[in-house]
Amino acid sequence: YLHIEEVAKRFGETEVLNGISLTIPKGGFVALLGPSGCGKSTLLKIISGLETETAGRIRLAGEWLAGVPAFRRDIGVVFQSYALFPHLSVAENVRFGLDMRHMGRAEADDRVREALALVKLDGLGDRMPRQLSGGQQQRVAIARALAIRPRLLLLDEPLSNLDAILRKSVRVDLRELHDRVGATTVMVTHDQEEAMSMADKVAVMHDGAIEQWGSPEDIYERPATAFIGTFVGNPP
Ligand code: ATP
Ligand code: MG
Repeated sequence: YLHIEEVAKRFGETEVLNGISLTIPKGGFVALLGPSGCGKSTLLKIISGLETETAGRIRLAGEWLAGVPAFRRDIGVVFQSYALFPHLSVAENVRFGLDMRHMGRAEADDRVREALALVKLDGLGDRMPRQLSGGQQQRVAIARALAIRPRLLLLDEPLSNLDAILRKSVRVDLRELHDRVGATTVMVTHDQEEAMSMADKVAVMHDGAIEQWGSPEDIYERPATAFIGTFVGNPP
């Protein structure tokens, strides 16, 4: 469904991604796990069309993405700092992508209601972002990404701004939401527990490359390198 073939990215002289290949089935939930600076966000930006690859290619639902602008890719993105527009209400935040697609008013209203219900924020559409808790703001960002009914959902450290307790509960919520909606999801994280508990498959990234690809059990029990063993808490 999502095929990433030998994607590379250089910023000036620096090779940030060197030949990433990855295939994700429709409806899958994959975690990109790796330390700070290994290239996770850069890979998500390339998939979503916010950065351009230096080499390689990506196919989504049979369509090659090279040259397709971000807003035509039908990819929902929740960014690392899940910035909502502070001057727009919750509902206006969620409609933002729909307005960009020139969706009619009635249909957009329905979509907003549906998306807020999915993240269990029914009835909070008129609040301003500052009147919500961090976890609720997080869910608004997810509703905004889901409202366009994306072909792919990209989550960049979606839980990083939450406290430890909230993080655990939103983890469960997010996975449940995925199982209900069935959106193909790629989640970036540097938290191994998060990756292991939420994803069906994990790609461990290190220095711009995928060092291991497997189920959470594979990676925890049979880490391919000393680096991975140490990183996931099962050192050699
Ligand atoms: P973190 O976990 O800290 O978010 P990350 O794995 O998401 O890290 P990236 O944001 O993909 O890391 O960055 C990978 C490397 O590319 C870093 O060394 C970063 O400094 C560099 N980089 C990212 N964006 C740019 C840019 N626009 N110009 C130059 N270098 C960049
Ligand atoms: Mg990042």
